[in-house]
Amino acid sequence: AEKKTKRAVVTSKISFDEIGGQDRAKQEIIEAMDFLIKHEEIKKMGIRPLKGILLTGPPGTGKTLLAKAAAHYTDSVFIAASGSEFVEMYVGVGASRIRDLFKDARSRAHKEGKESAIVFIDEIDVIGGKRDGGQHKEYDQTLNQLLTEMDGIHTGESPRIMVIAATNRKEILDPALLRPGRFDRHIQVDLPDKKGRRHILSIHAANKPLADDVDLDKIAEETYRFSGAMLESVMNEGAIYAMRDGSELIEQKHLALAIDKVMLGEQTDRETTR
Ligand code: ATP
Repeated sequence: AEKKTKRAVVTSKISFDEIGGQDRAKQEIIEAMDFLIKHEEIKKMGIRPLKGILLTGPPGTGKTLLAKAAAHYTDSVFIAASGSEFVEMYVGVGASRIRDLFKDARSRAHKEGKESAIVFIDEIDVIGGKRDGGQHKEYDQTLNQLLTEMDGIHTGESPRIMVIAATNRKEILDPALLRPGRFDRHIQVDLPDKKGRRHILSIHAANKPLADDVDLDKIAEETYRFSGAMLESVMNEGAIYAMRDGSELIEQKHLALAIDKVMLGEQTDRETTR
């Protein structure tokens, strides 16, 4: 018997204010959400509904956060899955899980009285890699099912469905996924610049007791190429160093140690996955 994956369905409480930097990506995703909100107008204008948005960019930059904020913004049900969930030994299981995912989205929206549902698929490249004619049959069926589901989304239906997918390997995606009516809107989510890093640091500092000597500008300066996830770790590790030190406040020196730790962790990660 097929094991049913338990899926976390949440009504997202994440707002765009909790996402630091990424001004352009936020703007673009808000614009795309108008397709869900202003659906009547869109229909009147004869505009084809937007079904799929692809978020691309390095790990930990806030792609999942953006999708959650989009769900909150549009008052949609949010259902998340990851490409790796659909990979199974037995042919057909992946495809049937895709079917369940969309079924779930629709029934949850009904149950919770929402007019729309956002289906988020992280690591879309795991199932959406280029099809190579027979080599990976299981993946082919899974991908085909996803395409079928997306082709089946139509304007008049209730709830309205929008699929948001994320990847950090856009170049390996099967072109069939990127065709009009599928993931035809792409939003780049890059590593934050200094201003973005400062913003992200301040978001994650908000619930923490900082000493007067803490200089978030300086930390933003010293964390070149850090992702949002790494910056969140810096603030968290800094708090841990302070606690170990018996200090009630997080000082600049604790955060300096945390930067080194996060940087080193990132390097070891890279070496072990090589
Ligand atoms: P992955 O590609 O690894 O799935 P992702 O781009 O989806 O990563 P998220 O899961 O959204 O990244 O981010 C992970 C965590 O990092 C968030 O829960 C948050 O704590 C922090 N974070 C990442 N980006 C930002 C940001 N722009 N602003 C604030 N926090 C961020």
